[in-house]
Amino acid sequence: MRATLNAIADELRRLKAGGVKDVVVSGETMVALRNAVEARTPKTQPEQPQVAPAPVVYSQLRQPAARHTAPKKAEPKLPPPPAVTLPEGDKKTRWDALLNMVTTNPVCLERVRPGKKVVLGVGNLDAKIFFCGEAPGAEEETKGEPFVGPAGQLLTKMIQAMGVKREDVYIGNIMNWRPDLPTPPGREQIGNRPPTEEEMLYCMPYLRAQLEVVNPELIVALGATAAKALLGFDSFTTLGSIRGQWKEFEGKPLMVTYHPSFILRTPTNRTKRTVWEDFLKVMEKANMPITDKQRGYFLGK
Ligand code: URA
Repeated sequence: MRATLNAIADELRRLKAGGVKDVVVSGETMVALRNAVEARTPKTQPEQPQVAPAPVVYSQLRQPAARHTAPKKAEPKLPPPPAVTLPEGDKKTRWDALLNMVTTNPVCLERVRPGKKVVLGVGNLDAKIFFCGEAPGAEEETKGEPFVGPAGQLLTKMIQAMGVKREDVYIGNIMNWRPDLPTPPGREQIGNRPPTEEEMLYCMPYLRAQLEVVNPELIVALGATAAKALLGFDSFTTLGSIRGQWKEFEGKPLMVTYHPSFILRTPTNRTKRTVWEDFLKVMEKANMPITDKQRGYFLGK
């Protein structure tokens, strides 16, 4: 039931990202959906009598009434997100199959420039901690590995400061390709743009599948894009308002913190300490040993 609800939620977000504002659902379906959601939601209020909504029938999408200045609807640029079903087998078998699925998906392949790569996560398939970033950048799409550019090198150092190696954790991204910017043919793309909601929703099944394989104890969302994709696009306004707090993604504890590129842009001890405090919370939750020295990192000016 969870998988079905996730698929419905993803499809609704995809339609919303494509400009669709109304979806008409029959009264019967509404009741079934409400029951499914209520079965998953702990009750805090006394139960209210269930009143079935008047049955509205049509299963097709309702078009908004024509207006003189009809707003231009953004057409979906991508097909619906892929249905990812992993084979039976051990983690390596399942992850290899996933790698093959994503790197042969024509939709992903079409979105990388010649000579560049589709990127899946990397790391220990038995990792306790799953770091999730935004999207590959220039270095990542060249190498086909997440977090290998400047932000990645900083992330690697932060992981080492936790007392573990990069190879001990799992590192992935919401996106499997570098979001494109207009670039003359034959030239290298300069700069990056954040992915659109539609792009993120397209890649989310691959992230979910990686989480399913690795089954980490906890997830760390690096930056606002990852946090929005995992918690909901309208779930917060500023990252500062939710960072350092434990949230949940599909029943797993999720820590939200700043993206390492934010530290690169603002390399003060204050910024570093802020992010480090979030990392300390992660270490505590994962029952990792913490020395006094580690507790004191970046406390100076
Ligand atoms: N930033 C990200 O979010 N992911 C990467 O892989 C690299 C930079």
